Amino acid sequence: MRLSWLTACAIAATLLTGIPLPAGADAIADPLAGAPGLGDPYYPLDGNGGYDARHYDVTIDYDPPSHLLTGTTRIDATATQLLTRFNLDYAGPELRMVSVNNLPAGFDRNGDHELTITPLLPLLPGLPFTVTVDYAGPAVATEGEGWTLAPSGGAFVSGEPHGATTWYPLNDTPLDKATFALRATVPAEWEVVSNGVRTQDTVIGGRRTVGWESHQPTIGYLTTVAIDKFSFLEQRRANGTPLVSAFAPNAEKNRENEQRLPEILDFIESLYGPYPFDAAGGIYVDAELEFSLETQTRPIYAPWTDLNTVVHEIAHQWWGDSVSVRQWSDICLNECFASYTADYLWPERKDGKDVDAEYRETIDKVRDKQQFWDIPLENPGAGNEFTSVYYRGPLFLHALRKQLGDEVFFAAVREFNAAHAYGNASMPEFRRFVQSKTAKDLTGFFTAWLNRTELPPDEYLYPGS
Ligand SMILES: [Zn+2]
Repeated sequence: MRLSWLTACAIAATLLTGIPLPAGADAIADPLAGAPGLGDPYYPLDGNGGYDARHYDVTIDYDPPSHLLTGTTRIDATATQLLTRFNLDYAGPELRMVSVNNLPAGFDRNGDHELTITPLLPLLPGLPFTVTVDYAGPAVATEGEGWTLAPSGGAFVSGEPHGATTWYPLNDTPLDKATFALRATVPAEWEVVSNGVRTQDTVIGGRRTVGWESHQPTIGYLTTVAIDKFSFLEQRRANGTPLVSAFAPNAEKNRENEQRLPEILDFIESLYGPYPFDAAGGIYVDAELEFSLETQTRPIYAPWTDLNTVVHEIAHQWWGDSVSVRQWSDICLNECFASYTADYLWPERKDGKDVDAEYRETIDKVRDKQQFWDIPLENPGAGNEFTSVYYRGPLFLHALRKQLGDEVFFAAVREFNAAHAYGNASMPEFRRFVQSKTAKDLTGFFTAWLNRTELPPDEYLYPGS
């Protein structure tokens, strides 16, 4: 995610500390019920226990004029314990029917986004099962935390860490990755864009049905659908990877930047290893949106998007999408790397900028600004995930690079990314991994940069000087 300049300034001006963490999920007395949350310290009710989702098959019908959203979501999962009931996360239109293994199941909506399902027969540990959820009603419109209405009359989905629950039920946690397929039907004059590879685009009787498939596993906030009167830019990488980019009316001005997508992918690949997905592109929406978001293979771009934003969101495909956080306290793994790539590495390698001089100038400017150092990079606190990682994160990685030297730094981050591809990683794992690559003791360096809330001492600001 990259915030608009105005939003970033507003956050910087109103930085809050001491926001209390939400209370932990209540202990569940029934050992045969799947936990309603996975206990993330920031969002304890996100995700659910007792099963592992393997594949989502989402079929929707959307009527832009009436905002009516009809859906059927089929989830293939495997029980990881004996289950007499389990939860999905869902906050979308009214439910019609839920079935498990093709038998009608009981269901109950509770809390902000919990859907408790009681199958007719208990689910046995280790065995696959299928949940099918039918729903229909007016789309639950949000402002940047899910289903969002566009001024054109279209709609799109974006939100981090939440958003997916507004249009399909899921296990909404970074810890449960699954493949994802969408089939969406709209009036024929509208277009539909989503993640992955386009598998279908047919018009029958005034209705258009479009299919998209993510062959590499993904998680809720990285899935999207966008419905608008898009125009398209179709490109290919040298290796044949198809690149499909879509522009809403009035978003055409971004076409020039998007034409550089093959070059951007090549550049980031040279830093962090092979591009992890079999498709790429971008979705340029026309709506008041305070952030652009790294939705998998095909980011959602707000109208203020510039080249820096595109490089940022594409860098997230390695840091955030392929390698995802274990907990939201690990957000620096996503944003520090995306910001460093776009703010430092691209200007340095593509435009010949002296980013080391820029780093020193920035440090001089913020040396006495305590507010700049108030929010730690590791475990910034719930509600603070999207603050210091943008302005302090790139400085941390630049200092780490100076500390290790280019050769060790780039080899280490590339190897760490490959080791966690299509999975999860944490900041403590990153620290341990980098430490294993050098004889220098990095304890003081990491503590000063990641945990302390003050300017790091000179030895860590200017390593090797
Ligand atoms: Zn970002």
